Amino acid sequence: MSNLSSLDGDTIAAIATAPGRGGVGIVRLSGPRARAIGEHLCGKGLTPRHAHFCHFSDGGGQLLDSGIALYFPAPNSFTGEDVVELQGHGGPVILDLLLRECAVAGARNARPGEFSERAFLNDKLDLAQAEAIADLINSTTEQAARSATRSLQGAFSREIDELVAAVTRLRVYVEAAIDFPEEEIDFLADGKVAEQVTALEAQLQGVLRQARQGSLLQEGMKLVIAGRPNAGKSSLLNALAGQDTAIVTPIEGTTRDVLREHIQIDGMPLHIVDTAGLRESADAVEQEGIRRAWQEMASADRILLVVDGSSPDADTASAALWPEKDERLGAELPVTVIHNKADLSGREPAVLRQGDDVIIELSALTGAGMDLLREHLKQCMGYSESAGGSFSARRRHLEALEEAARFLAAGQAQLDEAGAGELLAEDLRQCHNALGRITGAISSDELLGEIFSSFCIGK
Ligand code: GDP
Repeated sequence: MSNLSSLDGDTIAAIATAPGRGGVGIVRLSGPRARAIGEHLCGKGLTPRHAHFCHFSDGGGQLLDSGIALYFPAPNSFTGEDVVELQGHGGPVILDLLLRECAVAGARNARPGEFSERAFLNDKLDLAQAEAIADLINSTTEQAARSATRSLQGAFSREIDELVAAVTRLRVYVEAAIDFPEEEIDFLADGKVAEQVTALEAQLQGVLRQARQGSLLQEGMKLVIAGRPNAGKSSLLNALAGQDTAIVTPIEGTTRDVLREHIQIDGMPLHIVDTAGLRESADAVEQEGIRRAWQEMASADRILLVVDGSSPDADTASAALWPEKDERLGAELPVTVIHNKADLSGREPAVLRQGDDVIIELSALTGAGMDLLREHLKQCMGYSESAGGSFSARRRHLEALEEAARFLAAGQAQLDEAGAGELLAEDLRQCHNALGRITGAISSDELLGEIFSSFCIGK
C-alpha cells in the first residue's frame, strides 16, 4: 500500500450520520486526497457520481464493511472540493473503523462544521446559508425547519443582497455628488438622495421584521412562570403544554426547584421555566431556588406571575410578591399577572389592563381563558402564524440589521440637519459593512470560528 498521508494536503474526514445505530452510516471525506483515500478503502477506482458497491478494507486487506461509495469531483460537490462518501452499516464501531482507516490513509479528523466552512470558503454557500444548515438540523418545530430550508435556499441572503445593492447604488450617488460638486444638479440638495435613504430605510425595516420572526422561530420565547406555592403554576404549565401534541423535549430540572419544558404555540417555540415559589425563606436550599428564580427572570422574554385569583387577597397578592422587584431587576420587567382559578372566583376569562400591567383571568384547571393567554404570548413576541417566518435568522443577523438601520438613520439625520454629504457617505459605508457581515461578504476569522465551531462534527 502506498503511504497516502505523505501526499496528503489537507483532506478531512468525519462520520456524517448521527451517533448511534441505524441502517446506514456515512463517513465523508473532503479535500485533494479524498478520491485516493476512498479508492484505497474500496480497493477500486471511483468514477464521478456513480454508486459503487464496494468492500471497504484496511491497508492489510482486512475486510471492514461493505457498502456504497460515491465520488463527487470538485467543484461540483457540497464543499467545492473532491468529496467521497462511504456508506456503510450504521453502527458506531464500524463507522469508527472506517474513519480510522481514512486517518491511516492520510485524512485528518474534521473539526465541527468544517465541511460547511469549506463550502463557505469555496463560495458554495454564503454565511447565512451555512448557518441555516445548522438551524435546520436543530429545528424544534415544523415552521422552524421550513424557514431554515428557505434560508438555506437563499431566501434571506437574497433580501440582504438586495439591500446591499440598494446601499451600493446610493453610495455611488452620494460619492459622485461629493466628488463633482460643480455638476449642475446638486444631488444632495434636490431631495433625491433623501428620498432614496427613506426608501432604503423602509426596505431595511421590512427585512428586519421578517428576520425577527425568523429568529423567534429558531430561538423561541423564554417564559418564566413564577408565583407562590399553590397558586397553580404547575397546573398552568400543564395546561399550556397539554394542548400541544408536540412536546419537544421535556428536560429534567437542573435543580430541584427549576423545571424546564419546551413546547410550542402555533409553531412558536416556547422555553418554559417553572420556578420555585417566590417567598422569603430561611431554608438554604429553598433560598438557592429563589435566587435562581430571580436569575431566570432577569433573562426572560416574559414572566407569568401566577396568583390564586380566588383568594381574598388576590388583587394585592401580586404587588406583595414584588417588593424587591425593582431593586433586583429594574422596573422594566415584562410581567403578565395571571389571576388563576377563575372557576372558583367566578370571574369571566379576560385580558385586563391596569396602567402598564396586563392581567389575565383564567382557569388552568378548566382551560377557560387559556386561548387568551396563548394569543397574548404570541402578541408579546410579535409572532404571527400567517407571516409564517419566510426565512430563518439568528440573533447575530438581527444585531447586524439593527446596526445597519442605526447608521442609515444617523446618515439621514446628518443629511437633514447639515446637508452633510461626507458624513452621510461614511454612515452608508458603515451600513454596508454591517449588512456584509450577515452573508459573510465581510467576515473575520474570529467570527467564522465562532459560527462554525457551534456546528456538529461531520456537517
Ligand atoms: P403550584 O404550587 O403553584 O405549582 O400549584 P399547583 O399547580 O400544584 O396547584 C395547586 C392546587 O390548585 C392544586 O390542587 C390544583 O389542582 C389547584 N388548581 C390549580 N389551578 C386551578 C384552577 O384553575 N382552578 C381550581 N379550582 N383549582 C386549581
